[in-house]
Amino acid sequence: MVDKNDDLAKLSLLTEDILLEHLKERYERDLIYTYLGDILVAVNPFNETSLYTSQIRDFYRYSTDIHKPPHVYALVDLVYRNVCHGIYERQCCVISGESGSGKTESTKFFLKQLMYLCGGSSQLEQQILQATPLLESFGNAQTVMNNNSSRFGKYLALNFINGKVIGAQISDYLLEKSRVVIQSPGEKNFHIFYYLFDYLPFEIKQMLCLRTKYDYKYLLTNSSLDIQNNGSVNSLDEVINAMGLLNFTDKEQHSMFRILSGILTIGNLEFSIDDEGFTRQNFDEEKVKNNLAIIANMFGVNSKLIMECLTTMTTLTRNESVIRKYSLQSSQDARDALSKHLYARLFSWIIGKINETLNNPYPIQQYHHIVEIGLLDIYGFEHFELNSFEQLCINLANEQIQYFFNQHVFRMEMTEYESEGIMAETLTFTDNQSFLELFMAKPLGILSLLDDESRLPKATDQTFVEKLNYHFGSNKHECYSIKRNNKYSFTIHHYAGKVSYCALGFLEKNRDTLSDSVVDMFKHSQDDLIRLLFHGNPSDGTINSNKGLQHRTAAEKDARNRLTVGAQYRNSLQILMDRMCASHPVFMRCLKPNQKKQAHLFDDTFVRAQLRYCGMLETTRIRKEGYSVRLSFDEFIQKYGLLSKTHSSDLSSIKCRHILEETNLTEWQLGKTKVFLKYYHPEYLEKLMKKYR
Ligand code: ADP
Ligand code: MG
Repeated sequence: MVDKNDDLAKLSLLTEDILLEHLKERYERDLIYTYLGDILVAVNPFNETSLYTSQIRDFYRYSTDIHKPPHVYALVDLVYRNVCHGIYERQCCVISGESGSGKTESTKFFLKQLMYLCGGSSQLEQQILQATPLLESFGNAQTVMNNNSSRFGKYLALNFINGKVIGAQISDYLLEKSRVVIQSPGEKNFHIFYYLFDYLPFEIKQMLCLRTKYDYKYLLTNSSLDIQNNGSVNSLDEVINAMGLLNFTDKEQHSMFRILSGILTIGNLEFSIDDEGFTRQNFDEEKVKNNLAIIANMFGVNSKLIMECLTTMTTLTRNESVIRKYSLQSSQDARDALSKHLYARLFSWIIGKINETLNNPYPIQQYHHIVEIGLLDIYGFEHFELNSFEQLCINLANEQIQYFFNQHVFRMEMTEYESEGIMAETLTFTDNQSFLELFMAKPLGILSLLDDESRLPKATDQTFVEKLNYHFGSNKHECYSIKRNNKYSFTIHHYAGKVSYCALGFLEKNRDTLSDSVVDMFKHSQDDLIRLLFHGNPSDGTINSNKGLQHRTAAEKDARNRLTVGAQYRNSLQILMDRMCASHPVFMRCLKPNQKKQAHLFDDTFVRAQLRYCGMLETTRIRKEGYSVRLSFDEFIQKYGLLSKTHSSDLSSIKCRHILEETNLTEWQLGKTKVFLKYYHPEYLEKLMKKYR
């Protein structure tokens, strides 16, 4: 049934209150989807709905003729039709919203339906779908915002020829690897760790030397928390099944489990200090000995070597090697760095392995026209009591997406009207460009300054904050304010609100140190997979940050020139943006109805804030007033040429005018090279075209 308020852009009066009221009223009737012009809005229902049955999936299949209620499947259908008709070379679906608003679920529905539309039964389609549970098990975790929160960003690019998917490629963005070793209050480690205990058969657990999940420090950083992982959306069976389908060999899977078990065990490794206050190599203690034996077994390395790597550092000078002992803190840091690196490398390897499988070598011939659909699912905006480097990176990505959205909807709109010489009122909007400059500018941007500090031996997290305060504080930058009475904190004014960050650990997280000796140890592991993970990757973060380091070898100097985490992240975001800018975007905005993850609860104030900061209201206005559909004259003639009876060999602009006039459309405009249409025009034109198809 068609509801008159399916598309709120059609309301004659649209204020914030009215927008909110309609969304709420619809939500209460379980209508979670609403259009705002061509943007799809979804309010998270937080429960099972009957919105995704096979009848509904069929209902939204190839539906050009009638207007159907808003649904993520309608979006899929639109995008897929564009694929089949070869309308755009590249499209991308940008799903945004804050953490827990439903981005990942929507992405999954989108992908599943897309595979269904293009057949649904080929091996490749199945493999593409199976990548999701595998990646979720290693890359998602329970947080206070969301029981199944994505802790990495993902861009899935799918390639099509003649409406058939022929390959796919996943790009990932900065996994939050610190979670492996520590979690904030109310949060948990990555799902996969809990699956080991919940689902592995007893014999395998024994082989992996696993105890119970209550025995591991890395799983108990909040001991008060119930360890039951209610974020588990998949089971280990599903994950193992997915790995099989994606060509992970039994041997590889076995190595993966051994790595996970080794990581958990190393987290339990305790150090003590000797008389001089340095870490003692205590091989005699029973507990340490047992743990070391397990770790050595799981990682395929020598147990003595592990202890050495975690308690001492060897510095090579020109003619001798000097061994220095670690402090207790340095040993603990080295241990955790090892775990984080190993896990992150395992994750990257998994992505690489999946890509190898999905990037099917397909005999592509010249005349084949390949088109692409990109699906973006990143971590949503985050704002906790304590925000660290990870939140800064996550929120930066969200600022980028918001910027892209603004760019697309507002800027490009205005610039194009101007260059095409068509008339439109000047539209205003909230821009976040100045925020991005604050972060990205070189040399005076937050990331560049962080890199500078990360390279200075004497710099600390505090001197970093001092530099920020100096350059941006005291109203020097509108998006920055100094946090008085806290020398480690600073406040950033995001598009979604003010967030204070605690800079403790920033330098180290940016440097991402892993000592050469650990890398070296793993390079010689007896385990094939571990050796592969550490195989001379030039981006190894091997800067050695130990205090008191006097002599640096050539290798260490070289390491200092390697890219920091911040710089790598900036680059990968830039590539993503370039890619998205080259695509025709469709937008979906997810809204979170309340902060309690509860069904049937619509918190007005909370939703209003989201509507406001993501510029939804302005979006509505611009969609209504602007021309969201634009086609070059040739494209327009190619698509709708049949609608004109007038035969002429005139210029294409005149032909377009004939078509537009003969179809009795109103409110269109002709630019210098393009036809400008309102968002509701194509539907009408398609209806007319049905006669000819
Ligand atoms: P995000 O990726 O935006 O952080 P998720 O997509 O993981 O959020 O959604 C959080 C939770 O909300 C899911 O685990 C699920 O329980 C619920 N949810 C989200 N979207 C839907 C939906 N369309 N139908 C039912 N439940 C949903
Ligand atoms: Mg998510």
